[in-house]
This record gives sequence, structure tokens and C-alpha cells, in this order.
Amino acid sequence: MRDVLDSSAPVSGPGAMLRLVREGRAATRAELVELTGLARSTVSQRVDALLAEGLLVSSQTSISSGGRPPTVLAFNAGLGVVLAAEIGVTRCHVAVADLEATVLAESIEQIAINDGPDVLLPWLVERFGALLAQAGRTRAEVRGVGVGLPAPVAAASGRPANQPTLPGWADVPVAERLREALGAPVLVDNDVNVMALGEHRLSWRETEHLLFVKAGTGIGCGIVVAGELHRGAHGAAGELGHARAPRGGDVVCACGNRGCLEAIAGGAALAKALTAAGQPATDVHDVAARLRAGDRTALSLVRQAGRDVGDVLASIVDFLDPAVVVFGGELADASDELVAGVREVVYQRSLPFVTRDLAIVHSADGSRAGVVGAAVLAIEHVLAPATIDAELARAG
Ligand SMILES: [Zn+2]
Repeated sequence: MRDVLDSSAPVSGPGAMLRLVREGRAATRAELVELTGLARSTVSQRVDALLAEGLLVSSQTSISSGGRPPTVLAFNAGLGVVLAAEIGVTRCHVAVADLEATVLAESIEQIAINDGPDVLLPWLVERFGALLAQAGRTRAEVRGVGVGLPAPVAAASGRPANQPTLPGWADVPVAERLREALGAPVLVDNDVNVMALGEHRLSWRETEHLLFVKAGTGIGCGIVVAGELHRGAHGAAGELGHARAPRGGDVVCACGNRGCLEAIAGGAALAKALTAAGQPATDVHDVAARLRAGDRTALSLVRQAGRDVGDVLASIVDFLDPAVVVFGGELADASDELVAGVREVVYQRSLPFVTRDLAIVHSADGSRAGVVGAAVLAIEHVLAPATIDAELARAG
């Protein structure tokens, strides 16, 4: 998974040139010569290899000021597909996407994660097959697979950590088992990390430091520092939901501790509060449905949850100094109240020179943030300069 950074790949190899075109920084051979400082002949040779492999396509520009118009290069996002899944505790969002993370086919299915990997992984392989058929694509076109799981994941092995919310999944080689079944590289990461990565690559690429907060049943945070995901020593960085909330008091949390943010502002806590207010709700989906219906009690509970999140986030914003905090997850997607509550507190409590141009926004992908992020996780791997250089070396 570390080859997302691909620090080992030469900055001037064909893979690096493909990246410059994909990121919109170069569209002609002349621009590649200028950006890489390489000889024109070297650039042409590498571009030709990328064209031969079908990774780039070229077209002539129509605007001519005399002389031969330059050939414009573009990334061929349709060359293959990636499979993406956001596995939640009670539902799973599955998709087939092209190599720019544009969703070609998708479905949302009810699942019970407690059924465990022996039931869910074969089921997932079957769902992927059905969606490929729906998108009119084949197994042979699959270049990679990205999966988000609701648990910390060891980045090197793609195995989830032991979590009370995820019985039966601890240390299961999810990536290996899916790779055997699907015959393509499989990347597995924590769901919030996946969302942060997708949001950064697709909407905030020029921004170096970004936080992505997912507010659903639980509350988690993905951290992008200097353009790369920060996973921490155990893959557990960003466990925002178990920070102590100022209003947390003695409320017992699912983690066994008391006074956690999640225990008062997570989806499960809000469902309980709604029920106590005379509106029976069993889970975060019920709360989100009330929010979408404009229910006043639900809206005011979520506004307060936003302030509680803001209370904890304000210190983190001061500490990390991000340029943007993006919100996703069902509680954030269902209304504007959660983000409004966060803004209320963070803009007031964090340092003025930190919040002066801090953006606190909703995810651009909304309810698709997880599955699009999983697609991006796979794409970052299959199109990493080192991967491309190795592929062209084999082809050549
Ligand atoms: Zn907790």
C-alpha cells in the first residue's frame, strides 16, 4: 500500500509522465520536456510506450497557427476497470468504476457484518461479478480492487484489527482472499481513510493538509498530511469518536470507556436520544430518515451533535492546522445541521489565524464518498509510477 507514495520510482520514468498527464499538469510532449527536463527524444520514446500500451491516447488540436499542430495527450480512463466496496456494519456499497473513479455500475445491499468474512467475502465476489455484467465489462478488464472496512486496518497486510464492532474479522487476510478469488491486486483500508484519500485526490489535490470526518454510527477521521494518508503506527490514527467530549460526562461508550464523543454524538447515541424523545429509532438510518424528512427534534439533536464534534475538533484543528475539513457519513449527508454545528464551535474556538481561511464543507461525493474512495485506493496502486514502469518493462 505504501507504493501510493512510489518514492522508489524514478521521477522521469514513463509512469511519472502518465501521472503528469492524469493530473492535468501536462498535455503535450513539449510540456513533458519542460516539466521533466529530459531530452525530447527520451520523452517521445516513453510517451510512445504509453500510447502503445493504450494508457494514453492522442489527438491533433484543431487550432493551428501555421505549422503542424501539437498532438494532445490524454489519459485513457476506459482502458480497464476497478472494483470498489465500502463495507459497513449493516450495508455494503459496491461499484465498478473506470480508471478515473467514475462509477459505471453500483448497488447498495443490506448485510450483517456479524455474518463474518466466510459468508461476506464470497458474497462480495458474486456481487462484483453481477455488477461487471451490468456495466458490460469482463473479469479480464479488472485491474485492481479497493475495499473500505469499518475498522483499523494494518496497511502492509490489509488485515483488520481486533474490534468489538467487527467480531470474526480480526486479522483475517481480506486482501489475500479477495485477490485469490478475483485475480487482481486488492487494497484494503479503513473506511474513513479511503474516503479521505478519494476526497483529496478528486476534489482537493492542490491542498496539502486535509481532514475527513465521517459521522455515521460512529465518528472517525481520515488524515491527509503533505498530500498522503497518515495512518499512524497501528492504522488507528483519527479515532476521533473515542476522544473525550466536554459534555461526555459518565456516559458509557461501546469501547468500554466513558465520556467518548461517539457515546453522545454518534448515530447510535442519537437514535437512543430520539427514542427517549418519543420517536422510536433503532439506528443511524432511522435518524437520517428523520433528518431528511425535516423532523425538528432530529434536526436539533444533530445540531448539538455537530457542536459536540466541534468541541473535540477545535483542538485538533489547532494542532494539525488543516486547510480543509470535509464531512461525510449518513449524519452529515442527511442535512446541513451537523456541519453547521461544527462550524459554530470551530470558528469560535480555534485560533483565528488557523480558521481565517479554513474550509469546513460537505463531501463532494456525498453518499458515494466511500465507494469512490475505495476505487481511488485501487487506482492509486494500479497507476502508481512504479507499477506502470514495471508493466511497461514486461511489455517491452
Ligand atoms: Zn469510546
